[in-house]
Amino acid sequence: MDRGRRLVLRGSLIILLILPLIALGHYFAFPEETRCLLIGVSDFKKTDNLYFNPGLPVSTIYSIRSLIAQAEKRDSEFLGSLACKPRFIYCDNETDYALYGNKSGSPACTHTKLGAYIVLSRNGLNADVIAHEILHAELYQRLGFYKYQFAIPVWFNEGLAMQTDYRAEFSEDSLNKYSDGFRNLPELQNLRTGSQFYSGIERDILLNFSTARYEVKRWYTKDKLTHLITALTHGTRFADAYR
Ligand SMILES: [Zn+2]
Repeated sequence: MDRGRRLVLRGSLIILLILPLIALGHYFAFPEETRCLLIGVSDFKKTDNLYFNPGLPVSTIYSIRSLIAQAEKRDSEFLGSLACKPRFIYCDNETDYALYGNKSGSPACTHTKLGAYIVLSRNGLNADVIAHEILHAELYQRLGFYKYQFAIPVWFNEGLAMQTDYRAEFSEDSLNKYSDGFRNLPELQNLRTGSQFYSGIERDILLNFSTARYEVKRWYTKDKLTHLITALTHGTRFADAYR
């Protein structure tokens, strides 16, 4: 065997040895996301881009697909178009939601790193929650991994996702009530990271979401959002791009 072939063979063997280690490392670091990646070999059934537990009534499947369509229409009108093709995983029980989604008690969540997976629990079966999660996936699609993870503050990501999420508990009326007439709003510059944004008692977190929604609503136009995304992808800092 000549030297070139030996090198190719050695390289292939190294890759074959490393790949399982990477996969194993990913599983331990991100078990829910890894399970989503493997949903195709699970016992979940599939129709188009929707996965669901075996035995789910056809009427429920039809209803979920209708909610996804409503949410997509809402987000498409908000953004101008949709760029992402997420896969949806509906978990009809808490055990599966903990395996594929999270254990935080949220009604839904979105994994983005290796293709977008939107995991819905029973409580996530409404157009508000689904539209919210799709907007996370759309922002990720436009910014890419690094900018999405590190260049935007969490308050902006959540505030944007709240723009097509009309749940009453995050409305301005609710914000008015919980912030003592807008006098006690949290400082958004203190809500840059997930550990800052999602910490505290339920009422604190609700206030964070409502305040982020309120701020982005005051700021948003389609042109401003397009400009912001373009600026961020060209390396402008969020603080300079968010005007
Ligand atoms: Zn969110």
